[in-house]
Amino acid sequence: STARIDDVRMLEKRSLSYVDGPIPIPIDDPFLVENVQRICVSDTVKWFPIHDSEMYEFVGIVDEWVKNHDILLFWQVKPVVQVFQLSEEGPCEELSGDGQLSSFNEWILPAKEFDGMWESLIYESGLKQRLLHYAASALMFAEKGVNPFLVSWNRIVLLHGPPGTGKTSLCKALAQKLSIRFSSRYPQCQLVEVNAHSLFSKWFSESGKLKCVAAKADLDFRFWCMWQSVFTEDCINYEVESLAAARKAALSGSEPSDSIRVVNALLTQMDKLKSSPNVIILTTSNITAAIDIAFVDRADIKAYVGPPTLQARYEILRSCLQELIRTGIISNFQDCDQSMLPNFSILKEKLSNPDIQEADRSQHFYKQLLEAAEACEGLSGRSLRKLPFLAHAALANPNGCDPSKFLLTVIDTARKERSEL
Ligand code: ADP
Repeated sequence: STARIDDVRMLEKRSLSYVDGPIPIPIDDPFLVENVQRICVSDTVKWFPIHDSEMYEFVGIVDEWVKNHDILLFWQVKPVVQVFQLSEEGPCEELSGDGQLSSFNEWILPAKEFDGMWESLIYESGLKQRLLHYAASALMFAEKGVNPFLVSWNRIVLLHGPPGTGKTSLCKALAQKLSIRFSSRYPQCQLVEVNAHSLFSKWFSESGKLKCVAAKADLDFRFWCMWQSVFTEDCINYEVESLAAARKAALSGSEPSDSIRVVNALLTQMDKLKSSPNVIILTTSNITAAIDIAFVDRADIKAYVGPPTLQARYEILRSCLQELIRTGIISNFQDCDQSMLPNFSILKEKLSNPDIQEADRSQHFYKQLLEAAEACEGLSGRSLRKLPFLAHAALANPNGCDPSKFLLTVIDTARKERSEL
């Protein structure tokens, strides 16, 4: 109930404001112990006051933080506490008209199955923060009633880039994050995933989900995130011709194809959704060149999501190893402590600064991990996350495997994967 959520929020804030060290979060209150499953300190963000004084402007703090050698001191921060309960309901599917493939899935957010997804996605370019800032601005503009004829924004995000770079996951994770961040404004949030093929079914054009959301969103106070993989390779194979080519043909006067009708219907629905401040549309595409220009034009944010950089590759592999260590699949550490592997910037510092004393074996292991990240150049995030599994399966003696041997197998497997690209 709201009263209990407020209790937790108050207690959290109190305990956080009493902390004067960099990390610890004291949980000595019996109410918290009984009712709170987990507390995570997520990021510090530039944040706008949206609805009430719960949100704080964090810009100054981020500057301080940088000056403080990346150590965030709690007394410098006004914590924003979000209390939430994960929905365990799972997706609700709906079949398309022909009764075959499901045309969309719906989740109540925040959902259990997306828990931890945001943190697991690693990009170097500040993409995740950019998307959060964007959503905060979009909501603030809507809240303040900025006239869209004077300043226009569409609440449409387009993520494009090669397959396996985490675009789909990022959309879902972003929706989850927004549902938590905006919970004081929108206590309920729904994610609707529209499958690309449904865009081409007759059913879609007749009683399309977009239309449905547009009608519902006007009436209720839920926050709606729509995710759809429009204009992906699947779509184009389905229609044979690319949408861009189809539009060209249509412009030159020939009969409009089905794809043009679909795109036009979609664009019309999207334009209608523009007037609903509580809807955000997230879209992904694998091939940038074939995205319909009319659509590209409508997206406020067009972000290219490319293959992971060296730092991102290192961080992905590090998180994989950390998980294998946690579960005891990698063990047999002898004279070194690898239970906490250094992040990329600490690693760089360790390797470039001979004054930092480190056991030889640890140093060697970290170097090997970096080598593995280097060997994975060109692999997608999806392949990287699979790599430790494939490497484990390739080990001669998978029981109680030696960390160093394991990394050598990871490097070998990465080379094999790359040669098959
Ligand atoms: P896309 O939609 O771009 O094809 P997906 O979202 O389906 O990619 O990604 C598949 C999986 O690959 C994700 O669930 C995630 O585990 C992994 N992955 C991809 N990119 C990254 C990344 N940048 N950081 C961490 N994991 C990633």
